[in-house]
Amino acid sequence: MSVLEIHDLHVSVETEQGKIDILKGVDLTVNEGEIHAIMGPNGSGKSTLAYTIAGHPKYHVERGSIKLDGNEMTDLPVDERARAGLFLAMQYPVEIPGVAVTNFLRTAKTALDGEAPALRGWTKDVREAMKNLRMDSSFAQRNVNEGFSGGEKKRHEILQLELLKPKFAILDETDSGLDVDALKIVAEGVNRAKAETGLGLLLITHYTRILRYIQPDFVHVFVDGRVAENGGPELADRLEAEGYDRFLTETSVG
Ligand code: ADP
Ligand code: MG
Ligand code: MG
Repeated sequence: MSVLEIHDLHVSVETEQGKIDILKGVDLTVNEGEIHAIMGPNGSGKSTLAYTIAGHPKYHVERGSIKLDGNEMTDLPVDERARAGLFLAMQYPVEIPGVAVTNFLRTAKTALDGEAPALRGWTKDVREAMKNLRMDSSFAQRNVNEGFSGGEKKRHEILQLELLKPKFAILDETDSGLDVDALKIVAEGVNRAKAETGLGLLLITHYTRILRYIQPDFVHVFVDGRVAENGGPELADRLEAEGYDRFLTETSVG
């Protein structure tokens, strides 16, 4: 049984105006096969949490821990965290000019496994995953994220998720800007990954819409660098009806 444990996480970032504290004591435990939705207003630190777990060097862990199956991740570089089983679908996926999707995926898989996947099986897996995500086969020859539409970028993130088979994935607003058809396709991919590999998921989102297709076991309200409230799926409905005002007021008062 795999588990991702985040304990008392404090994170700062260096800016031109000096160091600023963004995360102020985050506690979160995600077990294998669990889906945790993280909802919160803009600027509350959701992407910072995602980047910090993945190991972005810009974000400094001041205090606390990120443990995967008991192993401390905080001092490991990005690639070692990926090998340990962590995956981040970024809010703004980056272009990699000159690198075709098919080569990118194979290189990533090889780096993760320590050996190249057998060509026949791999080619078949890629073809099947692309078909499941309704991606045209010509897509494999395009350069990563270059000229991709918003929906194509997000689908490409899910394609990686399905092929690289991490233990835990963080999806940072993967639903933003998707029309309902693309949203369903993305959700199907995530649900497949969960069913096939017992994926544990941190689903960062502004909207409850995606939670109709990817049902969360837990919902966390994220405000001002920490978890302000924990609940079940009903908490998402409440947020949709009431917004974040209640939490923001509590924060500014207390
Ligand atoms: P969210 O994803 O919830 O919208 P972010 O984690 O992106 O929030 O940002 C939280 C706060 O930290 C914001 O005020 C943002 O401007 C600041 N911040 C995040 N990353 C950086 C950075 N690399 N440099 C400067 N400020 C940052
Ligand atoms: Mg934001
Ligand atoms: Mg963000």
